[in-house]
Amino acid sequence: MRYHIWTVGCQMNVADSQKLAAGLDRLGWAEVPAPEDADLVVLNTCAIRDHAEQRAIGKLGTLKKLRKRGGEFTIAVMGCMVGLKTDDLQRRFPYVDVFARPQQFEPILQAVGYDDLGGEFWPATFTTPDSPTAYVPIVHGCDKFCTYCIVPYRRGRERSRTIDDVRAEVEHLAARGVREVTLLGQTVEAYGHDLDDHPDLGDLLGALHDIDGIARFRFLTSYPKDMTERIIDAVAGLPKVCEYFNIPVQSGDDAVLDRMRRGYHIELYREKVDLIRRKMPGAAITTDVIVGFCGETDAEFQQTYDLLAEIEFDKVHVAAYSPRPGTIAYRTLADDVPQEVKMARLHAVEQLEAGISARINARLLGRDVEVLVEGQKPSPDGGMTWFGRTRQNKLVHFAGEAQLGSLTTVRIERATAWSLAGVAVVAGARVDVASPLPF
Ligand code: SAM
Ligand code: SF4
Repeated sequence: MRYHIWTVGCQMNVADSQKLAAGLDRLGWAEVPAPEDADLVVLNTCAIRDHAEQRAIGKLGTLKKLRKRGGEFTIAVMGCMVGLKTDDLQRRFPYVDVFARPQQFEPILQAVGYDDLGGEFWPATFTTPDSPTAYVPIVHGCDKFCTYCIVPYRRGRERSRTIDDVRAEVEHLAARGVREVTLLGQTVEAYGHDLDDHPDLGDLLGALHDIDGIARFRFLTSYPKDMTERIIDAVAGLPKVCEYFNIPVQSGDDAVLDRMRRGYHIELYREKVDLIRRKMPGAAITTDVIVGFCGETDAEFQQTYDLLAEIEFDKVHVAAYSPRPGTIAYRTLADDVPQEVKMARLHAVEQLEAGISARINARLLGRDVEVLVEGQKPSPDGGMTWFGRTRQNKLVHFAGEAQLGSLTTVRIERATAWSLAGVAVVAGARVDVASPLPF
């Protein structure tokens, strides 16, 4: 039996798809690149913005046509498009065989004939890595209920995995060639508050740090209010943990933050950034911003723009507000910023950030940086170029000697806002990669 999984959305979705794939592999299924060759087609969807939903709807249209032409496959829709009630989805897409909420794999397996796999099946099924880098979810769901956001309605309340469970998964990945692990949570510093003894993210990082073979740890996504000095100290004190933080600010204006119910004001946000930069002067900090949120005035947007210019983030993910049915903002606030104003603000942020990122990256010209080698791809001159990331999560393309999964020193020769390029100066395998990696 053959399966095909199509994935959009965040890193958590990528991790969920990998877990489903690992489960199907264990049952003897094989993955195929084209849906028409599969017996089971899974669309792992995202609902964070309308655009993401439209992509899945477009894909469903293609599958419907394939079916009409005689394709015989089970269609499963999983992920954040699927809420508690599926009547509406069933009405709109009657040809879909099964709808499954994020991480609810059982209905999909039941649809293809597996009735009882036992309670231990999913927790014990760790992903099969295909790269030296891997994602490991540590806390599922979100309790924050920001007014614009659909995630808590679709991924449920926060649930942390135990330290032992996470450690077992990281050991499994390390034994299969993974060198860098990114720990995932919607608000990753919420980790542990629902567990006995209330370990925090710092405790977890400390408990994973000695795992042989893993050279680097990262974590995503940070919530400014939950990020404590204790966690920042743990990052600063643990050599394998990278100095890289993604801390969404969403807006630079306190009144907008209140309407978003983010639970903090800009003063607190600034304090956290200052603390990180004091303790780790080389740290990279990235952020997420929503422009054109309900009632956002020119002056309120200007506050965001000024904050971005002041903090100088390494990268900004900017999105125009997209009303999501079922959220608090959808029910109680008017989506009253015209589309062209949203787009003008989005472009203003992009333009500002392109200049800032280019300046930050240009500081690395002529410097030697540590790159974890993730693979090779064709270069414009017809040859192959290596690529990987720095500890600060900057993408680097480089020429010269290297080995997949190794930590290689690269001298930076070119820098743009989006990436760096250079040449390997010490092709070092400081991590033991004596045996070839299995991918
Ligand atoms: N938990 C993280 C946080 O605290 O911001 C981010 C999770 S969310 C999956 C990723 C990003 O999507 C958010 O940072 C936000 O900028 C964006 N986003 C969420 N809801 C949105 C909406 N309704 N319209 C536009 N962007 C949205
Ligand atoms: Fe959504 Fe807010 Fe939770 Fe992030 S913290 S997932 S933006 S509700």
